[in-house]
Amino acid sequence: MDTKLFSTEENEINEAGKIIRNGGLVAFPTETVYGLGASAFDADAAKKIYAAKGRPSDNPLIVHICDKAQIADIAAEIPNAAQIVIDKFMPGPVTIILKKKSVVPDDVTAGLDTVAIRFPAHETAQRLIAAAGVPIAAPSANLSGKPSPTKAKHVIKDMTGRIDAIIDGGDCNVGVESTIVDFTGERPVILRPGGVTYDDLKAQGIEVEIDKNILQSIAPDEVPKCPGMKYKHYAPNAEVTVVEGEKNAVQKKIKELLNETNGKIAGVLTMYGADYDNAVILSAGNTNKEYAKNLFSALREFDELGVEVVFAEFSEKDGYGLAVKNRLYKAAAQRVIHV
Ligand code: AMP
Ligand code: MG
Repeated sequence: MDTKLFSTEENEINEAGKIIRNGGLVAFPTETVYGLGASAFDADAAKKIYAAKGRPSDNPLIVHICDKAQIADIAAEIPNAAQIVIDKFMPGPVTIILKKKSVVPDDVTAGLDTVAIRFPAHETAQRLIAAAGVPIAAPSANLSGKPSPTKAKHVIKDMTGRIDAIIDGGDCNVGVESTIVDFTGERPVILRPGGVTYDDLKAQGIEVEIDKNILQSIAPDEVPKCPGMKYKHYAPNAEVTVVEGEKNAVQKKIKELLNETNGKIAGVLTMYGADYDNAVILSAGNTNKEYAKNLFSALREFDELGVEVVFAEFSEKDGYGLAVKNRLYKAAAQRVIHV
């Protein structure tokens, strides 16, 4: 398949919207990561998303809207706490899970009776959804298992030849996927941490819990609440190890580890800024917010540079800490050394 590359010019957004409306697939920028979109009302189009990504079809998609009025079209009920999130944090990097209406096909929700809804803050995403005239179902626009794309070049690498079009809208600012909050149980639960934090939700009086699986792998026989939890995620080709703690201890440990790589090409993702010998060094930035923005891109860059083992410096410093830690631990398949 020929994949068109679009800019954010009005005529190109309109053409992309038409492709979505007619059942095609378009990758588009959002403030979190690039999404791979199809009409949320078209079951066959949703099936094509799973094929293009190589994604297991029991992993549901997020329905993206550009107007809060669209929520009532797809959700059966809106609990009070969810309404607070809609009022205070939308548009923004948060996804709410509500009971679905039957217009949303099972292929979008992977057979669940719930639907994940997000109103992205990114102007290009909003313009595309408006041009399509339908909500857009989308997961991240990466091949299944790979780090989510935060730059157009990542999408071009993974999706060329597999989808109808890619809109190049520059780099994503948040860099990690949206916070997912499930409102269909007794109490709201954060299933995935992101740019809207636990503290942000608490400050609005929402009695939210954090799902225990956020920082651990799910046992193979356990049924995950958030279907995405059971799959391999964010994994670069390199073997990643997280070294967590304060600067001196972390850097001392990484220097030791660099001496034990048996000739493998090593890389360090630094947040403290360091002078390691014999390693490809990429910066994650000084804050967890910068780390979130740089993480996926750095993981892909290590692969491009042929790095075989990566040591990632990490310490939880700000509201983005949990979101970064969640992705880092998964990228490292839980290889974490606390010093
Ligand atoms: P992605 O942004 O690529 O991770 O894809 C969307 C993610 O949203 C999935 O992996 C699920 O974890 C989550 N999700 C979407 N719909 C639902 C739902 N109805 N219930 C629980 N989680 C959902
Ligand atoms: Mg994804």
